[in-house]
Amino acid sequence: MATMIKIVVSACLLGAPVRPDGSDRKSNDAILQRWLEEGRVVSACPEMLGGLGTPRLPAEIRPEGDQRRVITTGGHDVTSAFETGAATVRDLAQADGIRIAILKDGSPSCGSSFIYDGTFSKARIAGEGITAAMLRKSGLMVFSENELEAADEWIARAQSGAGPES
Ligand code: SF4
Repeated sequence: MATMIKIVVSACLLGAPVRPDGSDRKSNDAILQRWLEEGRVVSACPEMLGGLGTPRLPAEIRPEGDQRRVITTGGHDVTSAFETGAATVRDLAQADGIRIAILKDGSPSCGSSFIYDGTFSKARIAGEGITAAMLRKSGLMVFSENELEAADEWIARAQSGAGPES
Protein backbone atom coordinates (compact mmCIF):
# COMPACT_ATOMS: atom_id res chain seq x y z
CA MET A 1 0.00 0.00 0.00
CA ALA A 2 1.31 3.47 -0.91
CA THR A 3 2.47 5.74 1.88
CA MET A 4 0.06 8.57 2.55
CA ILE A 5 1.21 11.88 1.07
CA LYS A 6 1.52 14.46 3.82
CA ILE A 7 1.30 18.21 3.28
CA VAL A 8 2.89 21.15 5.09
CA VAL A 9 0.28 23.92 5.46
CA SER A 10 0.76 27.49 6.68
CA ALA A 11 -0.52 27.50 10.26
CA CYS A 12 -2.55 30.70 9.76
CA LEU A 13 -4.63 28.94 7.06
CA LEU A 14 -5.55 26.36 9.68
CA GLY A 15 -6.80 29.00 12.11
CA ALA A 16 -3.72 29.42 14.28
CA PRO A 17 -3.41 33.02 15.55
CA VAL A 18 0.13 33.46 14.26
CA ARG A 19 -0.03 36.41 11.91
CA PRO A 20 1.93 39.51 12.94
CA ASP A 21 -1.15 41.04 14.59
CA GLY A 22 -2.17 37.77 16.23
CA SER A 23 -4.95 37.04 13.76
CA ASP A 24 -5.38 34.05 11.46
CA ARG A 25 -6.43 33.45 7.87
CA LYS A 26 -8.46 30.31 8.42
CA SER A 27 -9.56 28.63 5.23
CA ASN A 28 -12.77 26.61 5.15
CA ASP A 29 -12.03 25.19 1.72
CA ALA A 30 -13.50 21.69 1.35
CA ILE A 31 -10.26 20.26 -0.04
CA LEU A 32 -8.28 21.46 2.95
CA GLN A 33 -10.96 20.10 5.31
CA ARG A 34 -10.74 16.69 3.61
CA TRP A 35 -6.96 16.64 3.91
CA LEU A 36 -7.33 17.42 7.63
CA GLU A 37 -9.79 14.55 8.04
CA GLU A 38 -7.41 12.27 6.19
CA GLY A 39 -4.62 13.17 8.62
CA ARG A 40 -2.34 14.53 5.90
CA VAL A 41 -1.77 18.03 7.25
CA VAL A 42 1.31 19.21 9.12
CA SER A 43 0.89 22.78 10.38
CA ALA A 44 3.84 25.18 10.38
CA CYS A 45 4.40 28.91 10.76
CA PRO A 46 7.96 29.72 9.75
CA GLU A 47 8.00 33.12 11.44
CA MET A 48 6.95 31.64 14.78
CA LEU A 49 9.44 28.80 14.29
CA GLY A 50 12.11 31.42 13.60
CA GLY A 51 11.54 32.85 17.06
CA LEU A 52 9.30 35.78 16.17
CA GLY A 53 6.25 35.81 18.42
CA THR A 54 2.99 37.67 18.28
CA PRO A 55 2.40 40.50 18.08
CA ARG A 56 5.32 41.38 15.82
CA LEU A 57 5.89 44.15 13.34
CA PRO A 58 4.96 43.40 9.73
CA ALA A 59 7.94 42.86 7.46
CA GLU A 60 8.65 42.96 3.75
CA ILE A 61 11.50 41.77 1.55
CA ARG A 62 13.90 44.34 0.17
CA PRO A 63 16.40 43.53 -2.53
CA GLU A 64 19.98 44.50 -1.62
CA GLY A 65 22.34 43.83 -4.47
CA ASP A 66 22.02 40.14 -5.21
CA GLN A 67 20.67 39.49 -1.70
CA ARG A 68 17.27 39.87 -0.11
CA ARG A 69 16.80 41.36 3.33
CA VAL A 70 13.63 41.17 5.41
CA ILE A 71 12.93 44.48 7.12
CA THR A 72 10.13 45.36 9.56
CA THR A 73 8.04 48.50 9.49
CA GLY A 74 10.30 49.65 12.34
CA GLY A 75 13.42 49.27 10.16
CA HIS A 76 14.72 46.20 11.99
CA ASP A 77 16.47 43.52 9.92
CA VAL A 78 14.82 40.17 10.70
CA THR A 79 16.34 38.23 7.80
CA SER A 80 18.10 35.79 10.08
CA ALA A 81 14.89 34.86 11.97
CA PHE A 82 13.07 34.37 8.66
CA GLU A 83 15.86 32.13 7.36
CA THR A 84 15.92 30.11 10.59
CA GLY A 85 12.16 29.60 10.36
CA ALA A 86 12.37 28.57 6.71
CA ALA A 87 15.14 26.08 7.44
CA THR A 88 13.11 24.64 10.33
CA VAL A 89 10.11 24.07 8.05
CA ARG A 90 12.36 22.53 5.40
CA ASP A 91 13.95 20.22 7.97
CA LEU A 92 10.64 19.08 9.42
CA ALA A 93 9.30 18.42 5.92
CA GLN A 94 12.36 16.42 4.96
CA ALA A 95 12.30 14.46 8.23
CA ASP A 96 8.70 13.43 7.47
CA GLY A 97 9.31 12.74 3.77
CA ILE A 98 6.96 15.59 2.80
CA ARG A 99 7.14 16.76 -0.82
CA ILE A 100 4.35 19.35 -1.00
CA ALA A 101 3.37 22.54 0.83
CA ILE A 102 0.39 24.88 0.79
CA LEU A 103 1.56 28.32 1.80
CA LYS A 104 -0.29 31.60 2.32
CA ASP A 105 0.41 33.80 -0.69
CA GLY A 106 1.73 37.33 -0.31
CA SER A 107 3.66 36.68 2.90
CA PRO A 108 7.38 37.50 3.07
CA SER A 109 7.81 33.92 4.32
CA CYS A 110 5.04 31.95 2.65
CA GLY A 111 4.30 33.89 -0.56
CA SER A 112 4.62 31.64 -3.59
CA SER A 113 3.39 33.76 -6.51
CA PHE A 114 3.53 37.30 -5.14
CA ILE A 115 5.01 39.30 -2.28
CA TYR A 116 5.03 43.00 -1.42
CA ASP A 117 7.72 45.24 -2.83
CA GLY A 118 9.48 46.27 0.38
CA THR A 119 8.11 49.81 0.53
CA PHE A 120 5.09 49.06 2.76
CA SER A 121 2.88 50.73 0.17
CA LYS A 122 0.74 47.63 -0.47
CA ALA A 123 2.39 47.25 -3.88
CA ARG A 124 2.49 43.63 -5.00
CA ILE A 125 5.26 42.17 -7.12
CA ALA A 126 5.73 38.71 -8.57
CA GLY A 127 8.01 36.71 -6.34
CA GLU A 128 8.25 34.32 -3.45
CA GLY A 129 8.88 34.51 0.26
CA ILE A 130 11.90 33.16 2.11
CA THR A 131 10.28 29.84 3.10
CA ALA A 132 8.60 29.21 -0.26
CA ALA A 133 11.93 29.78 -2.01
CA MET A 134 13.81 27.48 0.37
CA LEU A 135 11.25 24.69 0.09
CA ARG A 136 11.26 24.87 -3.71
CA LYS A 137 15.05 24.83 -3.73
CA SER A 138 14.87 21.66 -1.63
CA GLY A 139 12.59 20.03 -4.20
CA LEU A 140 9.17 20.50 -2.61
CA MET A 141 6.14 21.47 -4.67
CA VAL A 142 4.70 24.73 -3.30
CA PHE A 143 1.11 25.84 -3.95
CA SER A 144 -0.83 28.78 -2.54
CA GLU A 145 -4.20 28.62 -0.81
CA ASN A 146 -5.70 29.59 -4.19
CA GLU A 147 -4.34 26.47 -5.89
CA LEU A 148 -5.81 23.70 -3.76
CA GLU A 149 -7.40 21.90 -6.71
CA ALA A 150 -4.08 21.74 -8.54
CA ALA A 151 -2.39 20.55 -5.36
CA ASP A 152 -5.06 17.89 -4.86
CA GLU A 153 -4.49 16.64 -8.41
CA TRP A 154 -0.74 16.53 -7.79
CA ILE A 155 -1.35 14.45 -4.66
CA ALA A 156 -3.67 12.07 -6.50
CA ARG A 157 -1.02 11.51 -9.16
CA ALA A 158 1.70 11.05 -6.56
CA GLN A 159 -0.49 8.67 -4.57
CA SER A 160 -1.13 6.54 -7.64
CA GLY A 161 2.57 6.45 -8.43
CA ALA A 162 1.94 8.12 -11.78
CA GLY A 163 4.92 10.45 -11.55
CA PRO A 164 3.57 13.77 -10.30
CA GLU A 165 6.54 16.04 -10.82
CA SER A 166 5.91 19.43 -12.38
FE1 SF4 B 1 0.92 32.47 8.02
FE2 SF4 B 1 3.28 31.96 6.91
FE3 SF4 B 1 2.80 34.36 7.94
FE4 SF4 B 1 3.08 32.27 9.58
S1 SF4 B 1 4.65 33.13 8.24
S2 SF4 B 1 1.49 33.85 9.70
S3 SF4 B 1 2.17 30.65 8.38
S4 SF4 B 1 1.75 33.44 6.18
